Amino acid sequence: MNITDFTKTPVREIYGINSFGDAVMRERLPKSIYKELKLVQDGRNSLSLEIAEVVANAMKDWALERGATHFTHWFQPLTGLTAEKHDSFISPTADGRVIMEFSGKELIQGEPDASSFPSGGLRATFEARGYTAWDTASPAFLKEDNSGGVTLCIPTAFISYTGEALDMKVPLLRSMEAINKQALRVLKILGMDVNKVTTSVGPEQEYFLVDKEFYDKRPDLMLTGRTVIGSKPSKGQEMDDHYFGAIKSRAAAFMSELNLELWKLGIASKTQHNEVAPNQFEIAPIYDTCNVATDRNQLLMETLKKIAARHDLVALLHEKPFAGVNGSGKHNNWSISTDTGINLLEPGDNPIENAHFILFLVAIIKAVDKYAPLLRMSAANPGNDHRLGANEAPPAIISIFLGDQLTRILESLSGGEKYTNGNVETIELGVSTLPKLPKDLTDRNRTSPFAFTGNKFEFRMVPSSMSIANPNMILNTAVADVLAEFADKLETAPNPEEKLKELVAETYNKHKRIVYNGNNYSDEWVKEASDRGLTNITNTVDALSEMSKEYSAELFSRHNVLTGYELESRRDIHFEAYSKQINIEASIMIELTKKQVFSAAGRYINQLSSTISGLKESGITNNTAYKKMLDTVAKNSNLLYENIITLETLLSEALAIDTGAMDQAVAYRKKVFPQMTNVRTASDTLETLIPCEMWPIPTYLDLLFRL
Ligand code: ADP
Ligand code: MG
Repeated sequence: MNITDFTKTPVREIYGINSFGDAVMRERLPKSIYKELKLVQDGRNSLSLEIAEVVANAMKDWALERGATHFTHWFQPLTGLTAEKHDSFISPTADGRVIMEFSGKELIQGEPDASSFPSGGLRATFEARGYTAWDTASPAFLKEDNSGGVTLCIPTAFISYTGEALDMKVPLLRSMEAINKQALRVLKILGMDVNKVTTSVGPEQEYFLVDKEFYDKRPDLMLTGRTVIGSKPSKGQEMDDHYFGAIKSRAAAFMSELNLELWKLGIASKTQHNEVAPNQFEIAPIYDTCNVATDRNQLLMETLKKIAARHDLVALLHEKPFAGVNGSGKHNNWSISTDTGINLLEPGDNPIENAHFILFLVAIIKAVDKYAPLLRMSAANPGNDHRLGANEAPPAIISIFLGDQLTRILESLSGGEKYTNGNVETIELGVSTLPKLPKDLTDRNRTSPFAFTGNKFEFRMVPSSMSIANPNMILNTAVADVLAEFADKLETAPNPEEKLKELVAETYNKHKRIVYNGNNYSDEWVKEASDRGLTNITNTVDALSEMSKEYSAELFSRHNVLTGYELESRRDIHFEAYSKQINIEASIMIELTKKQVFSAAGRYINQLSSTISGLKESGITNNTAYKKMLDTVAKNSNLLYENIITLETLLSEALAIDTGAMDQAVAYRKKVFPQMTNVRTASDTLETLIPCEMWPIPTYLDLLFRL
């Protein structure tokens, strides 16, 4: 394996060479065009075709120099994956040769054949076509395939001809606009001179690596990303010896090449380490603005898979590839900052800063409390149903961790017990100083779904395989909504300063039920949360139903993030995706258990029977052990068979439902899903009985420990 040699290719020389980022643009665009494009990126000017022509030309020259032959509009349809359709730059000339062309129009707008992407009926009703539009704020990049082919990828948004959002990106961009608008109103009242407010995200990505040779023999992994059967090996993660342990050399070689590829793309891959489960790892790049971070996380997931393949490995991004050991998630570190460089979630130590920090803090507390079910929904997928609340990830109950110090400060500001910092003065908003919050004071709770970690919030429920677009779209919109309310009140108040104090106290007192600093994994919390009236939405189907409720339609339309119709179509797409996923999982489970496990059991039964006959022939009468074993295997084979038949029946019943996407998803959830557990239990029991050499597929031992 050719391990990257960073002495020959120093990181600073290769960093960003595949990204048409700010530095390249500054270098290659005429100054005036560069400046204009900056204004477009900031949303202060609209894009003209003249600018697009110049940028397209510079982009093409740059891409050709790096060996590109094709370009593509790169977008994120509602499948949750990315999509691309490649066009080459060639344009034939009259004399039978070609020139390489790329126009401003081709940069700005594309027309993929969109009919096979899920649209939840949107295009059927409106217009059959959709188009992609350049997201100027997200850098174009070059993708290199394994055989040296290079493609220029232009991040785009995907829209129908009548303007409906057909992708994950459009609502995210709209939500960024919403929070910008409302935050600016609030900051203006606070006397802060700011032009733009953006939300930033740093996603921490977890994944597993497995050997490709074993993977190829596991159709369940190949088709669903998870093992639908498999009994736990005698050693799992209980020794805690994998977490932060020395990285195995094969994984290290993979990571080295992964970093190289990411750095070339201008993705600032920063930390990597072993995770809790065997063969589980995490990678975290440095944060970016929401839309860029979303694009880059998609690209990171794609790159993970691509580079793994080069090392004869497979990167599993599924939330729960293996039962019995921890699954994977994605921690979504989120903050709000101004174009003047202020992180509004930074407590700081100067009085003016206190007011905006506290105000934004209570706005987030209210937003999370009020829209907890929607946040929960944004983290819902079939994979995550295996994790949330299973003592490896936060429970399905949304709450906020603030840490004791910050909680006491808010209590004090809200008329509760006065806060004193040791022997120092009492805190009063806007007058005295807020003590710096040492990071380790706020960062200790690892069980909270939504934790304040010093200068940002970490949303820890996000599924590992899913785009981070939706969680951030909902966070942005929910917080924008509360900021709008605050702005309405402050703008009309005779004394805004007094009003602000009142707002902080009133909001905190009303919504502090969402603050919980204890152990979120405990049973006591489940009970206490219910006493506090917090929602506990245990599964994807229930979570998606929140999208049908009036309050959510109102929220999204109030801020022009999603129309009622867009929301409805998305809900149906998600329901359908859920049903399809469970359908595939159940089908592959039937196939594997019926064809492979059941027949392996049969072979073992044969072997045991002939052993028993052999003993008899040899005149040995004591054959109890083999008889008992034979009996056990036969019993469990019958059990397996019966359960498979029941699963088949339930599956075809669910498949036949035609009364709507939701009804069907409910049937998969309530009927098919639980029966899968019964099949699995029977199959996993047989696995513990059948000799290794007779077991037809790679085991957990192969998948989790052989690397
Ligand atoms: P952890 O302790 O959870 O591993 P880190 O401090 O390593 O957290 O940061 C995790 C992620 O948070 C990284 O992607 C980092 O870039 C990101 N991050 C740091 N500061 C901010 C911020 N102000 N806004 C958003 N993300 C941030
Ligand atoms: Mg983290």
